[in-house]
Amino acid sequence: MSLISADNLAVHFGGSAVLSGVSLAVEPGEIVTILGPNGSGKSTLLRALLGIVPLSAGRVTRAAGLRLGYVPQKLAVDRSMPMTVRRFLSLPKRVGDVAATQALARVDLPEVEGRQMSELSGGQFQRVLLARALLSDPQLLILDEPTQGLDQPGEAAFYRLIEELRRETGAAVLMVSHDLHVVMAASDRVICLNGHICCEGTPRVVSNAPEYRALFGLGTKGALALYQHQHDHSHEGHDHAHHEHAHD
Ligand code: ADP
Ligand code: MG
Repeated sequence: MSLISADNLAVHFGGSAVLSGVSLAVEPGEIVTILGPNGSGKSTLLRALLGIVPLSAGRVTRAAGLRLGYVPQKLAVDRSMPMTVRRFLSLPKRVGDVAATQALARVDLPEVEGRQMSELSGGQFQRVLLARALLSDPQLLILDEPTQGLDQPGEAAFYRLIEELRRETGAAVLMVSHDLHVVMAASDRVICLNGHICCEGTPRVVSNAPEYRALFGLGTKGALALYQHQHDHSHEGHDHAHHEHAHD
């Protein structure tokens, strides 16, 4: 049974449709990435799935008793406010020392409890957010642009961590990105969004889909070659597109 699913979902803001006809499901243990340009409705989709924004049509179904961990794109907490990592982990819900220590160890950040949030690097900060989301022992982690502000090595390290967490905890991950290659390689399945689902499938299928390439203003070759380069050492300029199935 799916952990969460959307059936023909629509969201309107002030009369204009931000999302329409969106159907998707996340299965246990999957890493699914939603990709789309700015303003394409990615955050709104996550918030609709979480029940934070009202649907104007369609339905969201969650598995009974589903445990969720959510990292929003924008944090309601001011990072420059004096606050230790330990205290931050107890907001808004108090957690015990053992759970806090365990969550930080899970994200490879041991012994930072006493540090100020403002002293953390961008990568460490994102890991603390992730640690906080892990406190509920989630079956599904929902992460909205979790690598925002990280450089490429930082981003790659973060996605390795996500895969490690999935392996260790079995949690499924639904995340959002506006960016292409690194995130794709770390995903089992990619969904391209632009108000509606333009295409979806494995990273390879999506990177070859014309809908995806049009959405990101890509030509027919460059990005594809770059993407495949990391995986099967094909050379730039060679179009090794496997015309697998992609749908609208
Ligand atoms: P993305 O995350 O893909 O950048 P968003 O889901 O944040 O896109 O936003 C999609 C569109 O919906 C944007 O045009 C945005 O301005 C609009 N929007 C998002 N949230 C609200 C809101 N609470 N009220 C009105 N408009 C909103
Ligand atoms: Mg967003």
